Amino acid sequence: MIKFDVLSIFPEMFSSPLNFSLLKKAQEKGLLNICLHDIRNWANDKHKMTDDAPYGGGCGMVMKVEPVEKALAAIRSPEDDSLVVLMTPQGETFNQKIAAQLAEKKQIIIICGRYEGVDERIREHLVDREISIGDYILTGGDLAALVLIDAVSRLIPDVLGNPESTLGESFSHNLLEYPQYTRPAEYKGWMVPDVLLSGNHAQIELWHRRESLKRTYQRRPDLLKKIKLSAEDKKNLEKIKLEDI
Ligand code: SAM
Repeated sequence: MIKFDVLSIFPEMFSSPLNFSLLKKAQEKGLLNICLHDIRNWANDKHKMTDDAPYGGGCGMVMKVEPVEKALAAIRSPEDDSLVVLMTPQGETFNQKIAAQLAEKKQIIIICGRYEGVDERIREHLVDREISIGDYILTGGDLAALVLIDAVSRLIPDVLGNPESTLGESFSHNLLEYPQYTRPAEYKGWMVPDVLLSGNHAQIELWHRRESLKRTYQRRPDLLKKIKLSAEDKKNLEKIKLEDI
């Protein structure tokens, strides 16, 4: 069981995406606990201000340190096994490896920034990890947090119906997944490869591996540098390269 605590000024944004399909079922089964918190609840002025103008001037507003610090003090697990994550375009780029690391945690507290971002002292003193979901700027950290929650949650044991589904997926071993087909075997003359209809599981396994290598070579050759290729893989890759010329 993993607990996500999300700190946001728009917690309502989360309710719909978290209430469908596997994430909904995982919460119902008690595999996942997602608590949404409005940072305004920890603002100490009567207007519930969570942002203010930047020192030194400049456009936009900056999220204040006090409400976030108070919220963390209230939410953090007393066992001190929580991880505080700040969603920021300046963080390390999220990927499957980071998702797997986070899936080992018991409590993940996610701070969603808004406006021009957060007071630098939040980063310096309150955050364990800064994560970006890619090199572009969103209006807020909420959608980024949803991406993180989704990717981490499906790695938690029993969240997916079949635990093996994550094993051969793209990025799980730095290979992209092979192409998938389903019925009908022929549509408008577009055929499913014969081997997949053959019932020969050994041949199908070989085809899966070869197609994974081919996909990765064609679309993400950078990933191939990160994996240990078998002698058979190397032979296949040489053939794939020749076919590609
Ligand atoms: N001024 C900031 C900068 O240039 O780095 C960008 C602030 S952005 C408009 C507001 C908030 O959205 C950020 O504090 C962060 O929480 C979130 N955000 C925006 N883009 C993101 C990304 N690519 N990954 C994660 N969070 C992001």
